[in-house]
Amino acid sequence: MLKILTALFTMIPNSYGEDLRVIDAHTHTNFTGELEETSKIPDTEEEFKKEMKEANVVAAISHASRSGKVPYRSLKHLNIFQCFGVGDKIDLKKIDAGLKKKDYQCIKIYLGYVRRFAYDKAYSPVYRLAKKYSVPVVFHTGDTYSKSGMLKYADPITIDEVAVKNSDVKFVIAHLGNPWINTAAEVTYKNDNVYVEASALLIGDLSKVAPDKLEEYAIKQIRWAFGYIENPEKFMFGTDWPLVKIPDYLEIYKKAIPEEHWKAVFHDNAVKVFNLKDDLKL
Ligand SMILES: [Zn+2]
Repeated sequence: MLKILTALFTMIPNSYGEDLRVIDAHTHTNFTGELEETSKIPDTEEEFKKEMKEANVVAAISHASRSGKVPYRSLKHLNIFQCFGVGDKIDLKKIDAGLKKKDYQCIKIYLGYVRRFAYDKAYSPVYRLAKKYSVPVVFHTGDTYSKSGMLKYADPITIDEVAVKNSDVKFVIAHLGNPWINTAAEVTYKNDNVYVEASALLIGDLSKVAPDKLEEYAIKQIRWAFGYIENPEKFMFGTDWPLVKIPDYLEIYKKAIPEEHWKAVFHDNAVKVFNLKDDLKL
Protein backbone atom coordinates (compact mmCIF):
# COMPACT_ATOMS: atom_id res chain seq x y z
CA MET A 1 0.00 0.00 0.00
CA LEU A 2 2.76 2.37 0.91
CA LYS A 3 4.33 1.78 -2.46
CA ILE A 4 1.13 2.65 -4.32
CA LEU A 5 0.68 5.79 -2.30
CA THR A 6 4.23 6.88 -3.03
CA ALA A 7 3.69 6.25 -6.72
CA LEU A 8 0.53 8.35 -6.70
CA PHE A 9 2.28 11.09 -4.82
CA THR A 10 5.11 11.40 -7.30
CA MET A 11 2.60 11.60 -10.14
CA ILE A 12 1.21 14.87 -8.81
CA PRO A 13 3.39 17.39 -10.63
CA ASN A 14 5.01 19.40 -7.89
CA SER A 15 1.75 20.83 -6.62
CA TYR A 16 3.67 22.80 -3.99
CA GLY A 17 6.28 24.01 -6.44
CA GLU A 18 3.93 25.36 -9.10
CA ASP A 19 3.31 28.67 -7.40
CA LEU A 20 6.64 28.79 -5.60
CA ARG A 21 7.89 32.36 -5.64
CA VAL A 22 11.65 32.53 -5.84
CA ILE A 23 14.24 35.13 -4.89
CA ASP A 24 17.70 34.68 -6.36
CA ALA A 25 20.03 36.01 -3.66
CA HIS A 26 23.18 36.06 -5.82
CA THR A 27 23.31 37.43 -9.35
CA HIS A 28 25.38 39.87 -11.39
CA THR A 29 23.47 42.21 -13.63
CA ASN A 30 26.22 43.96 -15.54
CA PHE A 31 24.40 43.14 -18.80
CA THR A 32 27.54 43.40 -20.89
CA GLY A 33 25.70 42.17 -23.99
CA GLU A 34 28.30 39.42 -24.46
CA LEU A 35 28.13 35.67 -23.91
CA GLU A 36 29.44 34.65 -20.48
CA GLU A 37 32.75 32.87 -21.07
CA THR A 38 32.03 29.53 -19.39
CA SER A 39 28.26 29.17 -19.52
CA LYS A 40 27.76 30.94 -22.88
CA ILE A 41 24.65 32.52 -21.41
CA PRO A 42 23.92 35.93 -23.00
CA ASP A 43 24.68 38.53 -20.34
CA THR A 44 21.66 40.65 -21.25
CA GLU A 45 18.63 42.08 -19.48
CA GLU A 46 16.41 40.21 -21.92
CA GLU A 47 17.93 36.82 -21.03
CA PHE A 48 17.78 37.60 -17.31
CA LYS A 49 14.10 38.52 -17.52
CA LYS A 50 13.40 35.37 -19.54
CA GLU A 51 15.04 33.14 -16.92
CA MET A 52 13.34 35.00 -14.08
CA LYS A 53 9.98 34.26 -15.67
CA GLU A 54 10.82 30.64 -16.36
CA ALA A 55 11.88 29.98 -12.75
CA ASN A 56 9.19 32.25 -11.22
CA VAL A 57 11.89 34.51 -9.79
CA VAL A 58 10.06 37.50 -8.32
CA ALA A 59 13.15 39.36 -7.09
CA ALA A 60 16.92 39.16 -7.16
CA ILE A 61 19.96 40.48 -5.36
CA SER A 62 22.68 41.68 -7.70
CA HIS A 63 26.32 42.21 -6.67
CA ALA A 64 27.95 45.23 -8.26
CA SER A 65 31.48 44.74 -9.55
CA ARG A 66 34.36 45.63 -7.28
CA SER A 67 35.99 47.74 -9.98
CA GLY A 68 33.22 50.34 -9.76
CA LYS A 69 33.51 50.72 -13.53
CA VAL A 70 29.94 49.76 -14.33
CA PRO A 71 27.87 52.87 -13.55
CA TYR A 72 24.92 52.47 -11.18
CA ARG A 73 21.58 51.99 -12.83
CA SER A 74 18.45 51.31 -10.80
CA LEU A 75 16.81 47.98 -11.57
CA LYS A 76 14.23 48.25 -8.81
CA HIS A 77 11.41 48.25 -11.38
CA LEU A 78 12.45 44.62 -12.03
CA ASN A 79 12.66 43.87 -8.29
CA ILE A 80 16.43 43.65 -8.59
CA PHE A 81 18.22 45.06 -5.55
CA GLN A 82 21.94 45.75 -5.57
CA CYS A 83 24.91 45.26 -3.24
CA PHE A 84 27.76 47.78 -3.29
CA GLY A 85 30.91 46.01 -4.51
CA VAL A 86 33.94 46.86 -2.34
CA GLY A 87 37.24 46.75 -4.22
CA ASP A 88 40.90 47.26 -3.29
CA LYS A 89 40.28 50.90 -2.61
CA ILE A 90 37.56 51.44 -0.02
CA ASP A 91 35.55 54.58 -0.70
CA LEU A 92 33.55 54.97 2.52
CA LYS A 93 31.85 58.18 1.38
CA LYS A 94 30.59 56.49 -1.74
CA ILE A 95 29.32 53.48 0.20
CA ASP A 96 27.63 55.74 2.74
CA ALA A 97 25.96 57.84 0.04
CA GLY A 98 24.84 54.76 -1.93
CA LEU A 99 23.28 53.16 1.15
CA LYS A 100 21.66 56.40 2.23
CA LYS A 101 19.98 56.79 -1.19
CA LYS A 102 19.03 53.12 -1.14
CA ASP A 103 20.79 52.61 -4.46
CA TYR A 104 22.39 49.73 -2.59
CA GLN A 105 20.74 47.53 0.01
CA CYS A 106 23.72 45.38 0.92
CA ILE A 107 27.51 45.36 0.70
CA LYS A 108 29.60 42.77 -1.14
CA ILE A 109 33.16 42.01 -0.08
CA TYR A 110 35.22 39.97 -2.53
CA LEU A 111 37.44 37.84 -0.26
CA GLY A 112 40.22 36.23 -2.27
CA TYR A 113 39.81 38.57 -5.24
CA VAL A 114 40.75 41.40 -2.90
CA ARG A 115 43.81 40.48 -0.86
CA ARG A 116 42.47 41.28 2.56
CA PHE A 117 41.05 39.06 5.29
CA ALA A 118 37.46 39.61 6.41
CA TYR A 119 38.80 40.75 9.81
CA ASP A 120 41.22 43.29 8.30
CA LYS A 121 40.97 46.66 10.06
CA ALA A 122 40.29 48.32 6.73
CA TYR A 123 36.84 46.67 6.69
CA SER A 124 35.83 47.82 10.20
CA PRO A 125 34.29 51.10 8.99
CA VAL A 126 32.46 49.15 6.28
CA TYR A 127 30.84 46.98 8.95
CA ARG A 128 29.94 50.12 10.88
CA LEU A 129 28.12 51.43 7.80
CA ALA A 130 26.31 48.09 7.47
CA LYS A 131 25.14 48.52 11.05
CA LYS A 132 24.17 52.17 10.53
CA TYR A 133 21.91 51.31 7.58
CA SER A 134 20.90 47.83 8.81
CA VAL A 135 22.07 46.13 5.63
CA PRO A 136 23.79 42.76 5.33
CA VAL A 137 27.36 42.20 4.20
CA VAL A 138 27.87 39.40 1.66
CA PHE A 139 31.26 37.72 1.40
CA HIS A 140 32.63 35.92 -1.58
CA THR A 141 34.15 32.74 -0.15
CA GLY A 142 35.89 29.70 -1.61
CA ASP A 143 37.31 29.16 -5.06
CA THR A 144 38.03 32.29 -7.03
CA TYR A 145 36.90 32.39 -10.64
CA SER A 146 40.12 34.22 -11.45
CA LYS A 147 43.60 32.65 -11.18
CA SER A 148 44.96 35.85 -9.67
CA GLY A 149 42.71 35.46 -6.62
CA MET A 150 44.36 34.25 -3.40
CA LEU A 151 42.59 31.47 -1.60
CA LYS A 152 43.90 32.08 1.91
CA TYR A 153 41.71 35.20 2.09
CA ALA A 154 38.64 33.31 0.91
CA ASP A 155 38.43 30.61 3.59
CA PRO A 156 35.09 31.10 5.40
CA ILE A 157 36.67 30.42 8.82
CA THR A 158 37.72 34.11 8.93
CA ILE A 159 34.07 35.16 9.03
CA ASP A 160 33.61 33.68 12.50
CA GLU A 161 35.71 36.41 14.11
CA VAL A 162 33.94 39.15 12.18
CA ALA A 163 30.54 37.75 13.12
CA VAL A 164 31.42 37.61 16.82
CA LYS A 165 32.86 41.13 16.87
CA ASN A 166 29.97 42.62 14.88
CA SER A 167 27.06 40.74 16.40
CA ASP A 168 24.56 43.37 15.30
CA VAL A 169 25.39 43.01 11.59
CA LYS A 170 24.05 40.26 9.34
CA PHE A 171 26.61 38.43 7.21
CA VAL A 172 26.04 36.16 4.24
CA ILE A 173 28.54 33.51 3.16
CA ALA A 174 28.31 33.15 -0.61
CA HIS A 175 28.98 29.86 -2.44
CA LEU A 176 28.74 27.85 0.79
CA GLY A 177 32.50 28.37 1.10
CA ASN A 178 33.01 25.85 -1.72
CA PRO A 179 35.04 23.66 -1.30
CA TRP A 180 35.29 24.55 2.44
CA ILE A 181 31.67 23.61 2.86
CA ASN A 182 32.03 22.10 6.35
CA THR A 183 33.62 25.32 7.59
CA ALA A 184 30.93 27.50 6.03
CA ALA A 185 28.20 25.31 7.54
CA GLU A 186 29.82 25.45 10.99
CA VAL A 187 30.30 29.25 10.94
CA THR A 188 26.64 29.62 9.90
CA TYR A 189 25.43 27.13 12.53
CA LYS A 190 27.41 28.72 15.33
CA ASN A 191 26.69 32.42 14.70
CA ASP A 192 23.12 33.75 14.87
CA ASN A 193 24.01 36.62 12.52
CA VAL A 194 25.48 34.50 9.71
CA TYR A 195 23.49 33.22 6.72
CA VAL A 196 24.53 31.24 3.70
CA GLU A 197 23.72 30.61 0.05
CA ALA A 198 25.10 27.88 -2.17
CA SER A 199 25.42 29.57 -5.55
CA ALA A 200 27.77 28.37 -8.30
CA LEU A 201 28.88 25.08 -6.76
CA LEU A 202 28.99 24.03 -10.40
CA ILE A 203 29.03 26.49 -13.29
CA GLY A 204 28.50 26.38 -17.03
CA ASP A 205 25.76 24.64 -19.00
CA LEU A 206 24.38 22.31 -16.32
CA SER A 207 22.09 20.56 -18.80
CA LYS A 208 25.27 18.95 -20.15
CA VAL A 209 26.60 17.81 -16.77
CA ALA A 210 26.21 14.12 -15.88
CA PRO A 211 23.56 13.49 -13.17
CA ASP A 212 26.05 11.76 -10.86
CA LYS A 213 28.32 14.80 -10.97
CA LEU A 214 25.42 17.12 -10.18
CA GLU A 215 24.54 14.84 -7.28
CA GLU A 216 28.11 14.57 -5.92
CA TYR A 217 29.29 18.16 -6.21
CA ALA A 218 26.11 20.14 -5.74
CA ILE A 219 22.99 18.34 -4.50
CA LYS A 220 24.73 16.25 -1.83
CA GLN A 221 26.72 19.26 -0.59
CA ILE A 222 23.66 21.50 -0.27
CA ARG A 223 21.66 18.71 1.39
CA TRP A 224 24.40 18.03 3.92
CA ALA A 225 24.99 21.70 4.81
CA PHE A 226 21.26 22.41 5.11
CA GLY A 227 20.90 19.50 7.52
CA TYR A 228 24.01 20.38 9.51
CA ILE A 229 22.98 24.01 10.05
CA GLU A 230 19.71 22.80 11.66
CA ASN A 231 17.96 26.09 10.99
CA PRO A 232 15.97 26.40 7.76
CA GLU A 233 15.95 30.20 8.18
CA LYS A 234 19.72 30.43 7.60
CA PHE A 235 19.82 29.09 4.04
CA MET A 236 19.00 31.06 0.88
CA PHE A 237 18.75 30.28 -2.82
CA GLY A 238 21.37 31.83 -5.10
CA THR A 239 22.74 31.08 -8.56
CA ASP A 240 25.54 33.53 -9.48
CA TRP A 241 23.86 34.20 -12.83
CA PRO A 242 25.17 34.47 -15.59
CA LEU A 243 27.49 31.60 -14.58
CA VAL A 244 24.55 29.19 -14.55
CA LYS A 245 20.97 29.24 -15.82
CA ILE A 246 18.55 30.07 -13.03
CA PRO A 247 15.99 27.30 -13.86
CA ASP A 248 18.77 24.64 -13.98
CA TYR A 249 20.14 25.68 -10.61
CA LEU A 250 16.68 25.82 -9.08
CA GLU A 251 16.19 22.16 -9.97
CA ILE A 252 19.43 21.26 -8.18
CA TYR A 253 18.34 23.12 -5.05
CA LYS A 254 14.89 21.53 -5.10
CA LYS A 255 16.49 18.10 -5.05
CA ALA A 256 18.58 19.05 -2.02
CA ILE A 257 16.10 20.95 0.17
CA PRO A 258 13.11 19.17 1.75
CA GLU A 259 9.89 20.51 0.24
CA GLU A 260 8.48 21.77 3.53
CA HIS A 261 11.34 24.31 3.63
CA TRP A 262 11.08 25.54 0.04
CA LYS A 263 9.09 28.66 0.91
CA ALA A 264 11.69 29.69 3.50
CA VAL A 265 14.79 28.85 1.47
CA PHE A 266 13.59 30.02 -1.94
CA HIS A 267 11.84 33.19 -0.82
CA ASP A 268 11.14 34.21 2.77
CA ASN A 269 14.69 34.07 4.14
CA ALA A 270 16.00 36.48 1.50
CA VAL A 271 13.14 38.91 2.25
CA LYS A 272 14.23 38.95 5.90
CA VAL A 273 18.01 39.02 5.40
CA PHE A 274 17.94 41.73 2.72
CA ASN A 275 15.01 43.67 4.27
CA LEU A 276 12.96 43.50 1.09
CA LYS A 277 9.48 43.56 2.63
CA ASP A 278 8.74 47.21 1.85
CA ASP A 279 10.50 47.24 -1.52
CA LEU A 280 9.10 44.23 -3.32
CA LYS A 281 6.75 45.25 -6.11
CA LEU A 282 4.29 42.38 -6.26
ZN1 LIG B 1 29.06 36.18 -7.80
